Amino acid sequence: MAKMYYEKDCNLDVLKGKKIAVIGYGSQGHAHAMNLRDSGCDVIVGLREGGKSWAVAEKDGFEVFAVAEAAKKADIVIMLINDEVQAGVYESEIAPNLEAGNALAFAHGFNIRYGQIVPPADVDVFMAAPKGPGHTVRSQYVAGKGVPCLIAVEQNVTGNAYDIALAYIAGIGGARAGILETTFREETETDLFGEQTVLCGGVVDLMQCGFEVLVEEGYSPENAYFECIHELKLIIDLVNKAGVSGMNFSVSDTAEYGEYVSGPRVLPHDEIKANMRKVLSDIKDDSFAARWIEENKNGRPLFNKKREELSAHQMEVVGRELREQMLWKNDNDLDSASN
Ligand code: NDP
Ligand code: MG
Repeated sequence: MAKMYYEKDCNLDVLKGKKIAVIGYGSQGHAHAMNLRDSGCDVIVGLREGGKSWAVAEKDGFEVFAVAEAAKKADIVIMLINDEVQAGVYESEIAPNLEAGNALAFAHGFNIRYGQIVPPADVDVFMAAPKGPGHTVRSQYVAGKGVPCLIAVEQNVTGNAYDIALAYIAGIGGARAGILETTFREETETDLFGEQTVLCGGVVDLMQCGFEVLVEEGYSPENAYFECIHELKLIIDLVNKAGVSGMNFSVSDTAEYGEYVSGPRVLPHDEIKANMRKVLSDIKDDSFAARWIEENKNGRPLFNKKREELSAHQMEVVGRELREQMLWKNDNDLDSASN
């Protein structure tokens, strides 16, 4: 079993006298900054002048500085800007302002794992990665709860990196739910694998195939949408609450029997697992990361084309129309939920 930490293992006093610069004030940034402040920490925010987050962070009562200045003032710098721009911002604004004994922190391992950011040898490097969207990190904290977090220490030059990371995670509320120890490599590789094969890729392709088969066989697109797309959430909510057996308890025995006999016909395990291993191998040998970094350098031609094609797909068009009529359409929470 992997190692877990809880509140009793964390001592927030470790952060006394330390200034924390939260770089970025989006989904994760606003949640970390507000939770840490409510936990009694000394927090400033680092942003780019002219960006739309600046005014938001100021309105929330934070002192906001340009990234370089925030990094200079701080003892702990946490990178909560988009992963694709972190390396550039790090190079020009953060690296020159890190002092020996400072800590550089991340909420996702991509840039460290793939060598896009190479921190100096004299700073601590740790990860405090909530396993949930930033807006949930905030709402759970306010409710007296927390989102489980991953902890990883890549460099421990002060000898205190674990204590600092544990205190930081307690400060954002993660210790209330549980802190799982991992490494930058494990977090990055499993995160990419999960989103590519199951959570985003995988599930989306499965829904799309089901939708297309029903429509191609003459069933109505509305029916196909409700059956193959809308209902997925209802099923997953049951799995989330009670496991697959608990979900099976709630659906009919006919549905459960169909799951046993037809699931493996649709997804023959040997073949699917072999395909998943190929995806994992591209993640492990850096070739996926190299393609994604290149795609960004070239202005995202494939990404933008795919995004446009998907938006025009019939399942999306029909879904937008049906959701528009749903009575609770205004509670749709589209906070970014990757990682
Ligand atoms: P968002 O896209 O929500 O926010 C990005 C923030 O960075 C904005 O405040 C933006 O400000 C700022 N920013 C962008 N470019 C620059 C720049 N060049 N200089 C200064 N500030 C800039 O990011 P997320 O919160 O989604 O992601 C942050 C990190 O957290 C990533 O490493 C991600 O992998 C990780 N993570 C995210 C999760 C999530 O739920 N979203 C879950 C777990 C981890 P502006 O208004 O100026 O554009
Ligand atoms: Mg500093």
